[in-house]
Amino acid sequence: MQITKPCVALVASPGMGHLIPIIELGKRLVTCHKMDVTIFVVTSSGVSSLSQASSQNLLNIVFLPPVDISGLVDSATSIYTQLAIMMRLALPNLQTAISAMESHPVALIVDLFGTELLVLGGEFKMLKYIFVTSNAWYLALNTYVPTLDKNALDKHVENQEPLWIPGCQSILFDDTFGPILNRKNQMFVEFVRVGIEISMADGVLVNTWQDLEPTTLDALGDEKKLKRVIKAPVYAVGPLVRPIDVNVRRDALDWLDMQPSQSVIYVSFGSGGTLSTKQTIELAWGLELSQQRFIWVLRPPVENDASANIFKTGREFDDSSSYLPDGFLTRTHNLGLVISTWAPQTEILAHPSVGGFLSHCGWNSILESIVNGLPIISWPLYAEQKMNAALLTALGVAVRAQASPSNGVVTREEINSMVRRIMVDKEGYEIRRKVKEFKYSALKASSEDGSSSNSISNLAKAFKDRSQCQNVEY
Ligand code: UDP
Repeated sequence: MQITKPCVALVASPGMGHLIPIIELGKRLVTCHKMDVTIFVVTSSGVSSLSQASSQNLLNIVFLPPVDISGLVDSATSIYTQLAIMMRLALPNLQTAISAMESHPVALIVDLFGTELLVLGGEFKMLKYIFVTSNAWYLALNTYVPTLDKNALDKHVENQEPLWIPGCQSILFDDTFGPILNRKNQMFVEFVRVGIEISMADGVLVNTWQDLEPTTLDALGDEKKLKRVIKAPVYAVGPLVRPIDVNVRRDALDWLDMQPSQSVIYVSFGSGGTLSTKQTIELAWGLELSQQRFIWVLRPPVENDASANIFKTGREFDDSSSYLPDGFLTRTHNLGLVISTWAPQTEILAHPSVGGFLSHCGWNSILESIVNGLPIISWPLYAEQKMNAALLTALGVAVRAQASPSNGVVTREEINSMVRRIMVDKEGYEIRRKVKEFKYSALKASSEDGSSSNSISNLAKAFKDRSQCQNVEY
């Protein structure tokens, strides 16, 4: 009998926040478990990370032919719905691509937007897995909401009571996940469909680790709590974060080399986050007032669309002087660095001169902050980011931005105060101590024989067993 490497197919939905952890999972399967991994990408964004992974010849990365959703969406269609439609349309292309593969994959791993693609598991006799690139609390919400009747959901959506989820922290109305607020919207329908389809998988991987979310993970594995709903076993495999690339040498890193230890706050709203003009001006003033060193990844303001940049890889020229306060760049010349649109985030966060992160609370950014032991100012914008911010507060690793009730803007005074709280005040020391505890527990989870490494080993064993059965069958 000829023994070949088990082949695993991973599928990433559009967006860097989905692609980066899928690549890291793929790399782990190749380097630690000698799997043969192909990643199918439903969009062409994120070229730099892809080139790093492919240049090391670790992964076979295949761009599926682009899908055209133009006739199916309009300007009011949510990002969530757009992603669901894109993944749906990618099905025939994925089917063709898998049939053309030289080695037959033993397992298909899709992210949460790709649950419909799992039907291919049956057709090609593959094991079916879902990789949640967010946290276990979000997974709990997604699996539990489809089981709720109208009255139960009304209590949260209409009466604004906290949403109780068995064995988990309840979700406050103010932190709730947008799609569940409007049951007539397609976004809600897609969210519920995903929640139901999760239970059809052979397993669910989550980019978290046991010590970060012990209660929620226990609830997901407990028959009396969420296990009866989710059915599939849950594997905490995180934190899977992009490691630093030593070949990246940019102005920002040269500038950081010249700053004192832990003196710089890094300000970024992820791959898609955008602020209004008024909010951008307040942020500029807040940073200046704080008199703390900063790196700010700045995007041109967009009104009433916090995720306006999400499907863009844009590194185009941007004249920030047209919307920043007059003289800001000159006055802060010795204090901070403004980077247009995109920065080498992993490398910046790992630099010893960085001491804090003002973040939109995308899950990857949170993980990257924690593994570098950095306290966070949480400033959630869209998707499940308010839940993520609430989780950070509960963990004691962040202070949270409070918008003014009158106009929804976080004022310059509030920004100044938050920056000083984590960078200068005693509170910051305490938060740093706490986040370092999680940093070390993350290291432990990912070390040999750590909880997350063991989860990945268990998955790899299942893939190998399946591969051996197939070798016998053929
Ligand atoms: N990122 C980056 N440079 C930037 C902005 C984002 O490298 O200027 C990376 C960041 O390190 C993270 C990912 O893009 O890995 C963003 O994912 P996250 O989940 O934090 O937020 P999303 O963009 O999905 O909202």
